[in-house]
Amino acid sequence: MDKVLKIDHNLSEIFKYFKDHSDRYFNTECCGFLGFKEDQFIAQMAENRSPEPQSFFCVDPVDYLKFCHDYTMIAIFHSHINTNAVFSESDKFASEAICLPYLMYSVQENKFSLYIPENHEIDVSILEKVQGLL
Ligand SMILES: [Zn+2]
Repeated sequence: MDKVLKIDHNLSEIFKYFKDHSDRYFNTECCGFLGFKEDQFIAQMAENRSPEPQSFFCVDPVDYLKFCHDYTMIAIFHSHINTNAVFSESDKFASEAICLPYLMYSVQENKFSLYIPENHEIDVSILEKVQGLL
């Protein structure tokens, strides 16, 4: 796997990084984090720990905590490889449970989607920037 971290003040470059990475590793669901620090956005890929990485994803809690320590979390990212850009019931359930938005990219459809849970503490103006790129 090549470089797993991308920092850029331009959010569309961050989206491009997620897309390029997901397109390259198209036979497994890719996962990672979207965050920010000061005026920069951050994309970081994480290892998919799921025993069925073609259909599900699972991030290591240590990777999650490290990212939260270094950056302000905006969303959990993952790719869909064989389905379109529609969140599964388990995606929505997990997003609601951890109170964090889910950003997803469908390799098949070449399209991003964002799921925002009912309860979260993410800056609304930042989420609007993300939504502006969908
Ligand atoms: Zn999903």
